[in-house]
Amino acid sequence: MSDKQPGFDTLQIHAGARPDPATGARQVPIYQSTAFVFRDADHAAALFNLQELGYIYSRLTNPTVSALQERMATLEGGAGAVCCSSGHAAQIMALFPLMGPGLNIVTSNRLYGGTVTQFSQTIKRFGWSAKFVDTEDLAAVEAAIDDNTRAIFCESIANPGGYITDIDALAAIADRNGIPLIVDNTTATPYLCRPIEHGATLVVHSLTKYLTGNGTVTGGCIIDSGKFNWSNGKFPSFSEPEPAYHGLKFHETFGHLAFTFHSIAIGLRDLGMTMNPQAAHYTLMGIETLSLRMERHCANAVKVAKWLEQDPRVAYVTYAGLPSSPYHDRVARICPKGASALFTFSLKAGYEACVKLIDSVNLFSHVANLGDTRSLIIHSASTTHRQLTEAQQIAAGAAPDVVRLSIGLEDPEDIIADLDQALAKATA
Ligand SMILES: *Cc1c(COP(=O)(O)O)cnc(C)c1O
Repeated sequence: MSDKQPGFDTLQIHAGARPDPATGARQVPIYQSTAFVFRDADHAAALFNLQELGYIYSRLTNPTVSALQERMATLEGGAGAVCCSSGHAAQIMALFPLMGPGLNIVTSNRLYGGTVTQFSQTIKRFGWSAKFVDTEDLAAVEAAIDDNTRAIFCESIANPGGYITDIDALAAIADRNGIPLIVDNTTATPYLCRPIEHGATLVVHSLTKYLTGNGTVTGGCIIDSGKFNWSNGKFPSFSEPEPAYHGLKFHETFGHLAFTFHSIAIGLRDLGMTMNPQAAHYTLMGIETLSLRMERHCANAVKVAKWLEQDPRVAYVTYAGLPSSPYHDRVARICPKGASALFTFSLKAGYEACVKLIDSVNLFSHVANLGDTRSLIIHSASTTHRQLTEAQQIAAGAAPDVVRLSIGLEDPEDIIADLDQALAKATA
């Protein structure tokens, strides 16, 4: 064996997995057990004091979920990872130790529709708030940060238009202000983009999408870079004594694993947004072929986007993988292996034609999901971005005359033929 770090294709299959010590099972077993037997009373006490690592109860840790956590941490180049029940759970779990009543985040306005709602409405119930800014305007990002700001949030490849965020530029602003940069890497996956290499502190995922890859389970994950100084005075959850663990200080005790340990020992323990071992198993299976799928997703998306771009019925296509995209140069820097397979296009015939197009497709599935093996279509303005005002929809890239595609792994000729016949009906 050489000392060289194995490549991505090797790690997506092997990271976090080893033959089962009890049975030799080669595939990661589904440890469908709520509780784990303690060796004796001392062992139990050490586990509860966080002095020894081990399994207690599956709300906190489970061996199948642990394998997935280790695989995600490895693929993203992080120090540790915590899985949870969905992408939205991951976002709350990421913010939970950073935030408190009266504190805020500064976030990109180009986000998954559900995230816009979570940040603009639901987090207010915790006394948190979000300031939405156009992250192309770096001065506006900097100006939005105040003494109560505890994070900057963005998506690497942003919903719904496939816009590419300048992660390095946002990381520099976060650094200057002593706050973490949180990057939602769902649409890119660690195969296309590794936000930690661009300065991200935390990476969040909806594992529901490309990571699992075939639309079977929901899941989320937070990966910690392990590089942030949590003892800069702004993050008492990590730097101050924790009463529930006899005054233990997470940052002092666990160092670069402070966030990971806190998320398990406090976050999962008390919020309970736990991933179940079945879901972890499906996601582990999906990740084994991640690079192969993403390569094909990207190749198909390029073909479909190019075809749409030259079609006279189409006003514009937002795919960053097109040479005509204003973000094309950023692809080479942020996601050099491709711009994923999520983008929007606009119909010259407007809103009614978009709705008719959706009702006329055969191969495409009309669903509120992305990152499936199947090609998916949705009219964001009337569905995922429905709760937003028209101004918010336009800012988010989900204007009323825009349709979102998630290009699947079918033959590209079949995908294009389906769009062609549906466009004919929609614009007749
Ligand atoms: C789907 C999605 C989410 C939410 O994930 P769930 O697993 O549905 O909770 C968050 N961010 C992005 C970019 C998504 O695509």
